[in-house]
Amino acid sequence: MKRTKRIAIYGKGGIGKSTIVSNIAAAYSKDHKVLVIGCDPKADTTRTLVGKRIPTILDIIKEKREASTEDIVIKGFGNVKCVESGGPEPGVGCAGRGVIVAMGLLDKLGTFSEDLDIIIYDVLGDVVCGGFAVPLREDFADEVYIVTSGEYMALYAANNICKGIKKLKGNLGGIICNCRGIENEIEIVTEFADKVGSKVIGVIPRSEMVQKSEIDAKTVIEKFGDSKQAQLYKKLSESIYLNEEFVIPDPMGVDEFDEFFRKFQ
Ligand code: ADP
Ligand code: MG
Repeated sequence: MKRTKRIAIYGKGGIGKSTIVSNIAAAYSKDHKVLVIGCDPKADTTRTLVGKRIPTILDIIKEKREASTEDIVIKGFGNVKCVESGGPEPGVGCAGRGVIVAMGLLDKLGTFSEDLDIIIYDVLGDVVCGGFAVPLREDFADEVYIVTSGEYMALYAANNICKGIKKLKGNLGGIICNCRGIENEIEIVTEFADKVGSKVIGVIPRSEMVQKSEIDAKTVIEKFGDSKQAQLYKKLSESIYLNEEFVIPDPMGVDEFDEFFRKFQ
């Protein structure tokens, strides 16, 4: 039987994970069977694939104890299967609980044994603890990619995520640079990737097409399919698909990190 490619995309909140996940999922959908699992309590990973927000697993099982696959797996653009784990209300309970419950239920319903080529997890990685580590810790994902910009906090989070990946002995496949338009951005991210023992696997420029498609609840691939931006998401999806180089990252210490960053200022 063919092997399903199982990818987890980690990164700081607001850095552009969901935009990247939904766009590469849309790109893959042309030739592959794809499942996207949003593991961020924000629960908006799949919005641009489905055209609207879908109910989260935590919300669904609150209403219905015996939820079925049809209740929780919604088909979006290009027949991409979409799931949102969901999280508790802000300030109530562990934010990772949704992920734990979701993975358990999807497993029980046999979602992972279905005919799938690619599974993509969108994981909030400010903290690689508790539920957020589940896709990696419980062996649901085989390869990890980290999204960052050249900003201090984004790279700081990326370095922390590397610490988590190292602890879990995960395979880091590369760093995705989602540009904010800061000076020397690609150079900073390239050096960061080098420092942690990895590489930059793709560069996505800042583009107003991202917001324009977001407003319509569409991916860039769907709304501006012929654009350069769409091309770059497709190129990233190919680079990830073909990637065979994985490392257990070697994160920087706190002082080393500050020193690294200061060099560019
Ligand atoms: P995350 O999932 O990491 O929280 P999102 O993908 O939701 O981040 O992106 C956060 C915001 O940044 C969104 O409003 C999105 O439109 C915007 N954004 C992401 N990538 C880009 C880009 N390449 N160019 C312009 N805006 C972007
Ligand atoms: Mg998101």
